[in-house]
Amino acid sequence: MKHSRGKKKSNHSIARILVLGLLVLTACLTICFLHVADVKQCFVKVKTLETHKDVESSGNIISDNLGKTLDVIDQASFLMNSNEDGLDEEEIFTLLKQYSQLEEFESVYYVCNDGKVLRSDMGIRYRTEEEIAALKQIKKPTVFVKLEEKDGGKCGYAYYAAPIYQGGKVIGQLIGQHALKETFEISSFDSIRQTGDIFLLDEAGMVYAQLGGHFCTEGENLFTNLKNRAADVYSENRITKFAKGLANKVEQETSFVGTDGMTYYIEIKEIASVDGLFTAYVFPETVYSDTITPIVFKSLLTCMGICVLTIAMLFYMWATSKRANDTIEGLAYGDPITGGKNENYFRNVAANVIWENNSIPFLVDRFDVSNFRYINDAYGHERADELLTLIIKESQKLFKGKEICVRMNSDQFVLLARNDKEFETKCEQLISIVNERAREIGIMFPIRLKQGIYGIRRDDVDISIIIDRANAARKSLSGDEKVLVATYSDKIVKQMYMEKQIEADMSDAMRNGEFKVYIQPKWDIVHDCIYGGEALVRWIRQDGTMIYPDQFIPVFERNGYIEKLDLYMLEEVCKNLRVLMDEGKTIFPISVNQSRTLLHNPDYINQVSKIMKRYRIPNGYIELEITETVFFDERNLMINTMNDLKKMDVSISMDDFGSGYSSLNMLKDVPFDVIKIDREFFSESITSNSSILILRKIVEMAEGLGIRVLCEGVETEDQVEILKSLGCCYVQGYYYSKPIDSSEFIHKYCSKMENGKEYYDALYAKQAAERAERNLREAESVKAQSATSAVEKFKKTYVEKQQEEKTKEVVDEQGRLLSAEEQKILAQEAKNEK
Ligand code: C2E
Ligand code: MG
Ligand code: MG
Repeated sequence: MKHSRGKKKSNHSIARILVLGLLVLTACLTICFLHVADVKQCFVKVKTLETHKDVESSGNIISDNLGKTLDVIDQASFLMNSNEDGLDEEEIFTLLKQYSQLEEFESVYYVCNDGKVLRSDMGIRYRTEEEIAALKQIKKPTVFVKLEEKDGGKCGYAYYAAPIYQGGKVIGQLIGQHALKETFEISSFDSIRQTGDIFLLDEAGMVYAQLGGHFCTEGENLFTNLKNRAADVYSENRITKFAKGLANKVEQETSFVGTDGMTYYIEIKEIASVDGLFTAYVFPETVYSDTITPIVFKSLLTCMGICVLTIAMLFYMWATSKRANDTIEGLAYGDPITGGKNENYFRNVAANVIWENNSIPFLVDRFDVSNFRYINDAYGHERADELLTLIIKESQKLFKGKEICVRMNSDQFVLLARNDKEFETKCEQLISIVNERAREIGIMFPIRLKQGIYGIRRDDVDISIIIDRANAARKSLSGDEKVLVATYSDKIVKQMYMEKQIEADMSDAMRNGEFKVYIQPKWDIVHDCIYGGEALVRWIRQDGTMIYPDQFIPVFERNGYIEKLDLYMLEEVCKNLRVLMDEGKTIFPISVNQSRTLLHNPDYINQVSKIMKRYRIPNGYIELEITETVFFDERNLMINTMNDLKKMDVSISMDDFGSGYSSLNMLKDVPFDVIKIDREFFSESITSNSSILILRKIVEMAEGLGIRVLCEGVETEDQVEILKSLGCCYVQGYYYSKPIDSSEFIHKYCSKMENGKEYYDALYAKQAAERAERNLREAESVKAQSATSAVEKFKKTYVEKQQEEKTKEVVDEQGRLLSAEEQKILAQEAKNEK
């Protein structure tokens, strides 16, 4: 389907901007998210390092504390060792009492190899053999941890054992003891304690001491407790794996998701000074998120800001380009008169609709408003434009969706509609609603639409051809208004072909003299004699076939050739008249039809004048027939043309009066000599009494105005009698004669006159002298008029000057001389009073 790509192009550029915008936006968002993820990762790393450090330093602190305390017990054992003879129990007790004063220990005691335990606070106690055996293994100062019952619960204790020698043999152990918890130097663990829990535990996960108390207490297994808190099997498995790893000292850290949905992290550090003792730090994700979230949030906000700005910029670009496109589209596709769309739009969009919906049957309807010229003339341009607007509005209401209706130009419309059963109903509805609405805006004239329809076929590819076909159908409608819808058919194709042929042949036909003048006599029914004739063209081809004016005049009117033909006919008639006059034969006034286009030609008057002079035609022997439609456009210009024709003593007749929308006003404004009542109007009128009355009144009124009335198309004697009774004296019709060849007409009616030539020469000379005299008189009167007006002008200025002079000396009632300004005011007041 051929169509221009303008609209598509503009849509494409908007789409391109949108796609580009989306790409930029996506890129922006991706960069933003990558950046935010980067920032987050960076902060997680920093925070992880921080927690690693915290865990390491807390492990070191504990390890140092244990080491330092061991040093204390080691030094204490040194005193006992230095005594070579050994110490008795009393001495030991004394020493123990001194040692127990040391704040590091809860209690200090001495364990003999025989199982006797000397305690400063409890006196003598005994240990089991197993315990003693274990203690005997300690050959150097050692720290070990143990879980013990305390206050109904468990408590982890740190034991500092230093062997006591005598004679090179270990005789016992000096042991200091305190709760492991004491190892946590609270101030050093403050920050870590606020974020999570710290544990001291063995390889199996058994907790000896803890700070925080959220996950586990002393004597419980940390991993068992954590597994109980795990949200899912996956988390449980991670803890199990980590616990196993701890036993093998594989992993240092892990994480799991708790039942509260939060992620928890575990980090482990071995305590260097005690074998198998670890410090564990368990903390929730909030440790990270509390620090990182605000930063991430800020980064996100910044990114979002950038994105919003980008979107705003893109939106602005889109809106600007859309506005520009809309403006361009409005200019390219809008119809300023109706506010609807124009032909360009139709050509583009309709073509697409037809093409994209190949399965839907469509039709194109080219329609116009019948007698729109008359509406324009009678109701004015504004009201006529309102009518066009409401046609578009109402058709848009009825033809929706894929259907499109636009105004092409003047009163020409084109509609793309579905070719279904509803189409006819919709058209009827349109006409009825348009009439209703037209009446609302004061147009009482019945609105009829002349429609040419073309049903689109699947193989139609060119929208211009489709429109042209619909238009050809419309043009095929005769102007008689009886049939207002035509569908493109073979008959129309034939007619188009014939019109093309006419156009192709017309110039040759003119050269070959194929256009012949036929004359139909006009009859005076009062005196029952011929009184004139009408020249009617006939195209007689070289093969002898005759073509009637109805077939070629409309074509010539469209292509402008009619001007040439009309002037040719006028010249032929004048030529004939001249020949007849020169031969001294009787001549009759002959009327010649003049088309609208010819009358609009600015050189028209000049051309007619030249012909009339060339053949020296006496006054009243040429009559020009004009149809009332010529006055629809540029009425005043046409009236001036008529007056100019009158000045040349050419008669003017109004042809086909009553066939259209004749306005009686026109008879007053235009200097018609004759009105020719149209055949249809006349034959319809004589069927009813009231119409006969109208006809009678028209005849009376025309006669009153000095206008002759002629009835066209009189075919029967009855009609002649009726016309006689109505006071109509002149007729033209088959009853008297059909149009006949001019030579036949001459032969029949133009008899030889005695001294005919002299008579016509004298007549023409007399009229020419009269005309010259008249022209002279007119020229003189124009001169005189302009002289009078010059004198009057002088007088006026003189009087004004005099008055001005006078005003200079005006005095008021008190005799005071008035100033020029005061005088002016006084003069104005006097004028107003007048
Ligand atoms: P028109 O000027 O109104 O001419 C009268 C038409 O009525 C003529 O048709 C004539 O043959 C036909 N007619 C006359 N009496 C009767 C009758 O009793 N019964 C019937 N049925 N018809 C009758 P024609 O010659 O076919 O011309 C048709 C129209 O073509 C003319 O209508 C005129 O408008 C136009 N025309 C003819 N010749 C010329 C021309 O040289 N120049 C222009 N511009 N138009 C022309
Ligand atoms: Mg005529
Ligand atoms: Mg006529």
